[in-house]
This record gives sequence, structure tokens and C-alpha cells, in this order.
Amino acid sequence: MARERVVVVGASLAGVTVVDELRRRGFGGELTLVGDEPHSAYNRPALSKGFLSGADTLESIALPALSCEVDQRVGVAATGIDGDRREIVLADGDRLPFDHLVITTGARARTMADLGAADPGVRESTFRDVSDARTLRDRLVDRPRVVIVGAGILGMELASTCAAAGSAVTVVDRQRPLRAQLGRSLSDLVADAAIARGVTLAHHPAGVRLRGSGTPAVELADGRRFEGDLVISAVGCRPNLEWLGGTGLIADGDVRIDDRCRVAPGILAAGDVAAFRGDHGHRRTPWWTSALDQAHTAAATLLGGDDAAPLVPSPYFWTQQFGITLRVCGALPVRGRPTVVAGSPAEGLLLTWPDGRGGATAAAVNRRIPISRLRALTRATPSDTPMEVRR
Ligand SMILES: Cc1cc2nc3c(=O)[nH]c(=O)nc-3n(C[C@H](O)[C@H](O)[C@H](O)COP(=O)(O)OP(=O)(O)OC[C@H]3O[C@@H](n4cnc5c(N)ncnc54)[C@H](O)[C@@H]3O)c2cc1C
Repeated sequence: MARERVVVVGASLAGVTVVDELRRRGFGGELTLVGDEPHSAYNRPALSKGFLSGADTLESIALPALSCEVDQRVGVAATGIDGDRREIVLADGDRLPFDHLVITTGARARTMADLGAADPGVRESTFRDVSDARTLRDRLVDRPRVVIVGAGILGMELASTCAAAGSAVTVVDRQRPLRAQLGRSLSDLVADAAIARGVTLAHHPAGVRLRGSGTPAVELADGRRFEGDLVISAVGCRPNLEWLGGTGLIADGDVRIDDRCRVAPGILAAGDVAAFRGDHGHRRTPWWTSALDQAHTAAATLLGGDDAAPLVPSPYFWTQQFGITLRVCGALPVRGRPTVVAGSPAEGLLLTWPDGRGGATAAAVNRRIPISRLRALTRATPSDTPMEVRR
């Protein structure tokens, strides 16, 4: 391994972490990092929070500069793999020979058109990168009426920041906010806080469609229509896999990793692009700490092979919206009502739900707690004293 060539494609959290970790652990071979964004890596979660509100700049949300020697190809996409010659083909015509490849090309925003729920010609905005965030931030100056499709974590964060900037905001979904993942108690908590800040929420179980052309109207299955100056779809993300077409590395639309982040001999993957096998088949966990954990495992596997410690997924994410800071650890979706482990709505709460496998999903609501403690709660079976969580 010492003199071998490693190419990492995708220069965001997962890619940068793999590269940094390899050098930190003494890898002395050739290391190349390829990224199609025109600038260095940044903290993507900050886009919908401090960057959109104007509190942060691209400089303040930059990931720490690489502290090691790496050949960096910035602003150029990988377009394919020449399997016979073991080379990565770049959009500028260059080719990069590799002994080992790490796929860290992440994901992009899914659209309503992707879901077959938009009329032809609809102008749909999405929010994934710094360019999307700049565009929205500039538009918020004029306080446009904003309609957001999708009441998940990202949709509600955008709603929170747009409302704080003075826009009239409507969020439309098939369900109440965050309900599908976090259950009724936390959904009600967030919905109450959103409504208290003037946000309009609308849902219908039969779904939403974007109608018309140009800036669309958002229509619910019961005929209610919502019009805005701006319609933003926040309906999940899909992995960036097109450049892997024809390589045989994609199975049922996924790049599947094993517990050492291996996809095929000499090829690994980590981060939002990678699907890991869990109880319900292969799933991507497009969260910050999952990308970080997988990147560490991929680097360890490159250096140690079967001796590397396997990945032990411990899903964790956080969100800030409408004055609520929420940290959640463990399997989703949660089922049933939570048990209050500590606190109160006024002073901050610690909640758990049984996960059906002898452990729990744990959440901290407006309560500072080290991740390690939140993780420890996921290993305990909660007692059965459910509660209503209202502000
Ligand atoms: C707005 C927003 C808010 C978020 N908030 C939170 C949060 O609060 N908490 C949380 O846990 N997670 C959050 N996330 C998720 C978190 O940001 C991701 O899990 C994390 O960024 C994944 O890192 P990654 O490196 O795997 O992928 P990405 O960050 O998607 O990076 C992949 C990189 O690869 C590049 N790329 C793609 N294709 C190619 C190609 N062919 N050639 C070269 N380069 C390519 C992409 O342009 C990109 O730079 C948020 C995400 C977004 C979009």
C-alpha cells in the first residue's frame, strides 16, 4: 500500500476526511482528490442555517484546510472509469490511474420532477450547494412569498430561515412536519413553533403536485393551491452516480458498501453516496456524522484491509429551526410516544423511544448534551411512560 495510488472522487466532507485521515495515519503513496465544485470544501449543514441568514460567509463555513500533501483537482468532474486501464476519466480530458478508488460524490437535491409530480416546464428551485444558498439569500432581500414543498428537516430549516428574514412562508407536504421520521410529539412541537412564527402549514396524505409552467402553483390532492414568488422543493436527495454508469458498481440504484466501506476490489465508497446494509436492506444515511464515520472506516480499510475495525453505524443528526435545537441518535422512524428521560419543555428535554430491538432512539430537545451521552441512551431500553410534548 505504501507507494500505491489512491484517487478520491468528491471533495466534500467524506472525500476530504478520507484524504486527511490517510495522510494522518502515514500513507505515503500518491493521493489525488477530485471535486467538481469550484471552491474548497465547506460545511454543508451551515448553508440552510447561518449562511442563508447572512450570519456566516463561505470563509467562515469552510472545512479546515487539508493539512497534508495532496494533488487536488478543483472544479473538474469525474465522468467515468476506464476499468481495463484502471483510470478515472475527467471532464477536462485528463485521466488519473489508480490502484484504489474512493467514491465520495455525495448526493444532489431530488426534485418533484424526479418524483413525477411536476407539470412539464415547471421552474423548480432546490437547495443543496453554496450556489443555491447564495441565490436564495439574494432573493430573500426582497421578502418574496416562499412556498416550500417538503416538511422534512431541510424544508423546515429553510422555512425557519426564510420566515426569520421576513418572507411569508408556506410549507406543503403529504404529512405534518417531520412526522414521518420523528413521530407525532416532535412533529407537533416543531409545527407549533413554526405556526407561532407565522408559517402556514398544509398537508394532504394523497400528496402534492407542481402545476403550470414557470414558477408553479403548488397543489394538494384536495384542490388547495398555494402560489408564491418562489417555490423550493425540499424532497430528499439522490446519489451522484451517473459517472459510474456501465461500471457494474451500481446495484438497484445504489453504490453498496460492506462494513469496511468496500464496493468491489480496490474500490470503496463513503458518505451520502453510499448505501450500507441494515435491517431493512441497503440504505443511505445522508447525515454529517455518517459521512464522517464512513470516511474514517474507508481510510482504515485502505491501510489495514480486513484488520480494520468494521463500521458500526450509529446514526446521528441535528437540526436548528424555529428556536428549537434538536439532536437525534438511533434508528428512524421512531414509533409511538416518547419517554421523558430528563427535563421539561421549558428547560430542555431528553426523550427516548424503544427501537424494537432492545435499544432506543434518543433525542435532546433544546438541551446541551455530549453526543456520547445521547448515544449511551440508545443502548438502554426505555421504560414505558409516554408523554405529550407541547411547548
Ligand atoms: C442544506 C443542507 C443542510 C444539512 N444539514 C444537516 C444537519 O443539520 N445535520 C446533519 O447531520 N446533516 C446535514 N446535512 C447533510 C450533510 O451535509 C451531508 O450528510 C454531508 O455533506 C455528506 O458529505 P459527503 O461528502 O458524503 O457528500 P456531499 O457533501 O454531497 O459532497 C459530495 C461532493 O462530490 C462532488 N461531486 C459529485 N459528483 C462528482 C463528480 N462526478 N466528480 C467530482 N466531484 C463530484 C459534489 O459536487 C460535492 O462537492 C445537510 C445537507 C444539506 C444539503
